[in-house]
Amino acid sequence: MQFEAVIGLEVHAQLQTRTKIFCGCTPAFGAPPNSHTCPVCLGMPGALPVLNADAVDKAIAAALALGCTVHEVSEFARKNYFYPDLPKGYQISQFDRPIATGGQVDLEVDGQAVHVGITRIHMEEDAGKSLHEGTGDPNLTGIDLNRAGTPLIEIVSEPDLRTAAAAAAYFTYIRDVLVAIGVNDGNLEEGSLRCDANVSVRPRGQAAFGTKVEVKNVNSFRYLQKAIEYEIARQSAVVGEGGSIAQETRLFDPDAGRTFSMRSKEEAHDYRYFPEPDLPMLVLAPGQVARVRAAMPELPAARRARFVAQYGLPAYDAGVLTQDPEVAGYFEAVAAVAPAKLASNWVMGDVLRTLKEQDVAIGTCPIAPAALAELLGLVDAGTISTAAARQVFETMWATRESASVIVEREGLTQVGDESALLAHVATVVAANPDAVASYQAGRVQAIGALVGQVMKLTRGTANPKVVHALIQRHLDA
Ligand SMILES: [Zn+2]
Repeated sequence: MQFEAVIGLEVHAQLQTRTKIFCGCTPAFGAPPNSHTCPVCLGMPGALPVLNADAVDKAIAAALALGCTVHEVSEFARKNYFYPDLPKGYQISQFDRPIATGGQVDLEVDGQAVHVGITRIHMEEDAGKSLHEGTGDPNLTGIDLNRAGTPLIEIVSEPDLRTAAAAAAYFTYIRDVLVAIGVNDGNLEEGSLRCDANVSVRPRGQAAFGTKVEVKNVNSFRYLQKAIEYEIARQSAVVGEGGSIAQETRLFDPDAGRTFSMRSKEEAHDYRYFPEPDLPMLVLAPGQVARVRAAMPELPAARRARFVAQYGLPAYDAGVLTQDPEVAGYFEAVAAVAPAKLASNWVMGDVLRTLKEQDVAIGTCPIAPAALAELLGLVDAGTISTAAARQVFETMWATRESASVIVEREGLTQVGDESALLAHVATVVAANPDAVASYQAGRVQAIGALVGQVMKLTRGTANPKVVHALIQRHLDA
């Protein structure tokens, strides 16, 4: 039997606000346990929540960026459950009147168009965290409420995804959009972006859904793909052998590469939602949606298309450069001065590679866009070779000097003057009889090795085109 997977994702994204959703505490990550708390986020009796206006604006921005309809009126609700990291015994969330509904994301995955409907986006507060280590007693579980009250949105998709790869691509798209509009920091390791997947399988051609399993808290794009792949294979095998799928919540174990059961449907909570009595209805101000829309930066997909149209870049380059808005901005600053394709090659290549190697963020890159543009200008004008430019780049990175200062001091100006190069050509030809014989036997590409030797001898200052012509003339004579 052939099976088809049906997948929907629930993405929880922390809103990048200065304070928590209902109090003045900071939601900053990594502080000593319980240091960012107050009576409101500790759930003290009588403490009342006050809604953070910036959190509302950021939820609206996310909704607009994902093509949703933002509702002028929405409502907070209590989601009741009992857990140690939830001090009030309920989470303030939104239930039947969320802030936004009905969006759509259009993707291309492995050459196939994928359309994913967005059911709803609702606002809620995060819970605290249980600490099973570092309490000083292995039998003790600590509670850290720094995260309690952190503003979140939950983005619920329709069950429109059919493959693990498409699910990972959708989650990546959501991350890129939220980061681009400054709503979320995109940090999966610290948990400011989290994802649960609902996965079921059905025989190909069947319209009815199979029983779905929820896979919780997968904290990387790769793990999400692996967890879903595992679930599809597991469920297909069970159904294929005539078994039935238990409706349950499962967790992914990255080390074992498999999911395992966390709780069954029988243990699932009945949340007894009801309207939050301590908060009024959320009524947006006149013009609030329009104001957020007007302040929204360009979205990654639009920027990608513009990079192709405006700079004549291949789609691949545009995709790489727009993944991170800061990288895109860096590229645009370089391309404002230097030729666009040259700028793209250098940003995608040397810049991104060196940042990664040195673990430096683009915002603190030691080579400013204008400095890189100057270097590329020297390459474009033929003043220095690409090989010499690589050396200059390394020196610029280390010393923050300008390209022209380094080129001048180290004598890296490209030598295109034939007479200056002839002696080097003669030396290299004499020292490499094998390559010469190979060339003369008809292997024209053997000349490349000789060009490389001259480049080495001249520390990259020779003009490789001139060298190539000189060697060819020398050998053909
Ligand atoms: Zn607080």
